[in-house]
Amino acid sequence: MIKGYMLIGGKKVFKKEEIVIDFPFDGSPVGTVPRGKKEDVELAVETALKGFEKVKSMTAYERYQALQKAARIIASRSREFAELLTLEVGKTIKESMGEVGRAVNTITLSAEEAKRVLGEEVRFDAAPGIKGKVGFFRRVPLGVIGCITPFNFPLNLTCHKVAPALAAGNAVVIKPSENTSLTVIKLAEVLVEAGFPPEAVNVVTGYGEEAGDALVRDERVRMITFTGSVATGKIIMSRGGLKKYAMELGSNAGVYVDKDQTGRLKELAERIGRGGYALAGQVCISVQRVFVHESLFEEFTKELCSFSKSLKVGDPRLEETDVGPVIDRNAADRIMEWIEEARSMGAQVLCGGRRLSETLIEPTVVVNVPREAKLFRQEVFGPVIVVNPVDSLEAAIEAVNDSPYGLQAGIFTNDLKAAFKFAEEVECGGIMVNEIPTFRVDQMPYGGVKESGIGREGPKFAVEEMTEIKTICFDLN
Ligand code: NAD
Repeated sequence: MIKGYMLIGGKKVFKKEEIVIDFPFDGSPVGTVPRGKKEDVELAVETALKGFEKVKSMTAYERYQALQKAARIIASRSREFAELLTLEVGKTIKESMGEVGRAVNTITLSAEEAKRVLGEEVRFDAAPGIKGKVGFFRRVPLGVIGCITPFNFPLNLTCHKVAPALAAGNAVVIKPSENTSLTVIKLAEVLVEAGFPPEAVNVVTGYGEEAGDALVRDERVRMITFTGSVATGKIIMSRGGLKKYAMELGSNAGVYVDKDQTGRLKELAERIGRGGYALAGQVCISVQRVFVHESLFEEFTKELCSFSKSLKVGDPRLEETDVGPVIDRNAADRIMEWIEEARSMGAQVLCGGRRLSETLIEPTVVVNVPREAKLFRQEVFGPVIVVNPVDSLEAAIEAVNDSPYGLQAGIFTNDLKAAFKFAEEVECGGIMVNEIPTFRVDQMPYGGVKESGIGREGPKFAVEEMTEIKTICFDLN
């Protein structure tokens, strides 16, 4: 059992009341973390305010160096981070190694951005009658940023917030998911070891409604950068008052397979299947809804089922496992209910659909799912792929857009005009042409429209969100 702690100003803080973190595969306890409350958040924010003064006085080059060093430390301890991720999140060891690699990349990119926190000259004399005035604007850090993160990528998604925040000269208070806090504590320790002032990197563990809520309501916190569900995002924005927000929320990503894709359906079924079942479907850009031209529907679904059945479902610690468990029993109950609901509304479960243990669900393909079914409308966050036939590009665009979400979407086609029309008309933050919507690299702007969120991540874009503009004008008359 790992005994976790909060990290406030570099000090380990323990509490009598603790939250137990379970291994999602079999429910066995992995460790505990303190149940942080309002008073802990208040202390962390007070400490972070001091940390802000210190980190602000580091040069851009010093911040660059510290981030570079943090990336090197994590890379050298990849296996240790990955094993902990597998225990907390239940993702397969292959997926965990992938997440560690991504985290190293995100921190390295953030290090580069530390050198590019730039403003520009303002041409004051470009307006009539103004003479003798020169000036510019600078990008300055905000102060204390509250980072609230979800369970599914505790390492990389926390890096997406903390690394750009520090690159830009801010201090942070992190409230990780109560299900997966242990990796985040390690990350914070690495950042301090790498050279950031301990007061600038604080972690308060605890429940969303307690520690998370206190962080959101604290008026000294200048920004909340949140990744999680739409429901939580809406609560946060209604309670946090006057501060900046970045909201990376849910999705039920759609992809269209055009009529000219005949001949490569096996390959597409595999790619789409991987996009749907990665991390047992618990990725915000998991492929959830596939729209296939009706002429290819039968062959595509056959290939997708054959791929789905070939995957090894089981213990995520084993190298050969492809699909691990979902996060907990409640999540599995809900996913199974949604499959049953779709079935009762006329959809057909073509393969999978069985629950192999409390938290293991077979990769599942459900076809002809009515639009009113939760499996179509909401975010399933489980290893379930919906496939519906469509008769045209226009019908596919309409179907992809028939969602409250708009994070990413994809199209497979050889028709340039069709690809362009899809990219123009689909309402999403990112459109992937001849790629699955699950594609993300850390240097790209990433974020959603509609209920999928506000703002963009990717270090370059996060630095913009995490700074504000200060204009400086000199009158030389
Ligand atoms: P969640 O919304 O349940 O929790 C996320 C975080 O918010 C946790 O740390 C939780 O403790 C905290 N929280 C809960 N209530 C709070 C409150 N009232 N005030 C402050 N904080 C509160 O989400 P989850 O189940 O951990 O993660 C899954 C969700 O995250 C999915 O919807 C998924 O799509 C989304 N997600 C989005 C992205 C993205 O980049 N868009 C990436 C990963 C996950």
